[in-house]
Amino acid sequence: MQGAAGGGGERGGSGRALRSRSSHGPPSFPSADNRAEGGHDKGRLYLVSTPIGNLADITYRAVEILSTVTLIVAEDTRHSRTLLDHHAIKTPSTSYHEHNEARETPRLIAKLLAGQSIALISDAGTPLISDPGSRLVQAAVTAGVPIVPIPGPSALLAALVASGLSADRFTFYGFLPRKGKERTQTLTSIIHSSITSVVYEAANRVKDTLQDLSDSGAPDRQAVVARELTKKFEDIRRGTVTGLAQQIGEELKGEVVIIVEGAPDRDVDEETLRTHLAELRAAGVTTREMVDRLMTAFGVARNVAYRLVHEHSAH
Ligand code: SAM
Repeated sequence: MQGAAGGGGERGGSGRALRSRSSHGPPSFPSADNRAEGGHDKGRLYLVSTPIGNLADITYRAVEILSTVTLIVAEDTRHSRTLLDHHAIKTPSTSYHEHNEARETPRLIAKLLAGQSIALISDAGTPLISDPGSRLVQAAVTAGVPIVPIPGPSALLAALVASGLSADRFTFYGFLPRKGKERTQTLTSIIHSSITSVVYEAANRVKDTLQDLSDSGAPDRQAVVARELTKKFEDIRRGTVTGLAQQIGEELKGEVVIIVEGAPDRDVDEETLRTHLAELRAAGVTTREMVDRLMTAFGVARNVAYRLVHEHSAH
């Protein structure tokens, strides 16, 4: 709990965070201290991760911060009320979502600059991860407001670590584009990637997405469909992309993360890579993206990718 002492919510000296500060000495997280960041007049913006289903999956520090800030900014205040009531958190809340963030951001920044601390939460998991908040964080960075992450659950990490697939390196795609060229490009990128891919998907689209991955050229690739994690009907299915596509019904319900194994190593000669680089350059892809593409699509080592891109750009 010592970490929470650095949280320093400021709704009066009776807050538990302030008590633990005096009883345990100085906070062990200097960056959570306003003075350490040179922002002693400003409030802090806390980015608080909340459960992805099981209400007990919240850290002591998160409860402490949510209990002591001036305001909780929530994606959906009615949804979050269940969590807040469960933990007896009485802090007032206001809504912040894609339809009001442009209007609300300056108002929230003004509060932070006036010395009030605010906690941002989303309906589930970590704010900003396929959820609102990046506009507020960017504005807070610009305004010099201290930003304090309070880490905790996120569906992508829960699914990844339970998948049994490599978690050493992975690409998180969030929600896939629903149709058109962008979807095709993203599916292509997933099936060519040599590292694990993690995708958020609506339950009723899981079957189609697996079928699309199969049709795009990865029918035998190992995949995992992680559904309703941390909840009563948690269900983790493993199999090939095609096998899962056949097994899963159209009427799947709940919340789902799809994980796809990286493509097996391919022996690609440098001439093939140079041809690919020429195509990328013609498509206007940046040098940095070219390096990434060689690494993820062909499993090329970073130093080799840099050399090839550098040689290619020099011509
Ligand atoms: N910010 C959240 C996070 O950190 O995980 C994600 C928010 S995004 C709007 C919601 C998506 O996350 C769902 O459509 C689903 O893909 C995934 N998700 C959330 N909770 C989940 C759960 N309990 N089990 C599986 N997937 C979940």
